[in-house]
Amino acid sequence: MAFGSARSTRRARGVTALVVPHGAVRIRRIPILPMGMVNAHLVVSRAGAILVDAGLPDTEASVHRALQREGLGWGDLRLIVVTHAHIDHAGNAARLRQLSRAPVCAHRGDLDHYLQRRPMSFCPTGLFGRLFLRSGLIQRPYDALEPDILLHAEEVLDLARFGIDGQVRPTPGHTAGSLSVCLDDGHALVGDLVASGILLGGIAWTSRAKSPPFEDEPALVARTLGRLADEGARRFYLGHGGPITADEVLRHTQRLLRQHGG
Ligand SMILES: [Zn+2]
Ligand SMILES: [Zn+2]
Repeated sequence: MAFGSARSTRRARGVTALVVPHGAVRIRRIPILPMGMVNAHLVVSRAGAILVDAGLPDTEASVHRALQREGLGWGDLRLIVVTHAHIDHAGNAARLRQLSRAPVCAHRGDLDHYLQRRPMSFCPTGLFGRLFLRSGLIQRPYDALEPDILLHAEEVLDLARFGIDGQVRPTPGHTAGSLSVCLDDGHALVGDLVASGILLGGIAWTSRAKSPPFEDEPALVARTLGRLADEGARRFYLGHGGPITADEVLRHTQRLLRQHGG
C-alpha cells in the first residue's frame, strides 16, 4: 500500500490536497465516536473518495472534516457503501447522500431494515451486548434509506469506475446483507464482520480480534472471514476498533468455529 508515496503538491479550496499516484489509494479512519469505538472510513484515490459506512445520525461534521483533511469536499465523494443496516453504520446515510449526491450501495439482505419496514434482530455475543441491548440505543429508528445500488445474493460491485482497484462484496454473517470493500492490494474494510478492543470495540487492546456486541450467525462469520483471508485480505479495517492483521482474524475464526461449529 503506497500510503507514504502520496505527495501534497496541489492546492484546492485553501487546503493542501493529496496527489495520489495512479492506482494507489489511502484509507482514512473517520472517528464517529472517539477511541475507535465507532469508525467509518474514507478510501481516497486520485478520482475522489468513497465512504465506507455512514455513521450514527447527525455525525456529518466528522465525515466532512475527514474529507477536508484530504483536500476534498462533499462533491468529491463518489460513492457511499453501507456495510449493513445497524444504526451506527447506516443511520446517517440518507443525510450524507443529500449533502454529497453520491449514490448509496447496500445489499438486498438488509433492505427491509434500511427501509425501516422491519426491526433488526440483535443476537448478543456476550454480557456487553445484552446490557447494550437493554439501553435501547442500537434499536432506535433512523431516516429510511432507499439504496441507489442494491446488490443481490453473491453480486459484487467493481470499484474501477470509482477510480479504485477493488470490489464491494457480499460478506454475510454479522447480518444477512453485510458487505465489505475489498481492495486488490489486500486491504479489506469489513464493517462488523469482526471487531477488536473492549466493550463496543476500540479503547484498548485494539490489535486483538473479538466478536462485535451482536452477530446473527457466528459460524457463517467464521466462514466468510476465512474466505476473505484465503482470497488475499491481509489487513482488516473495522467498524469498532482495528485495524487488525489476517493472522489475528484467523485466530478469531478458529475460536468461533470451536464455539459454534462450522
Ligand atoms: Zn453491526
Ligand atoms: Zn457496528
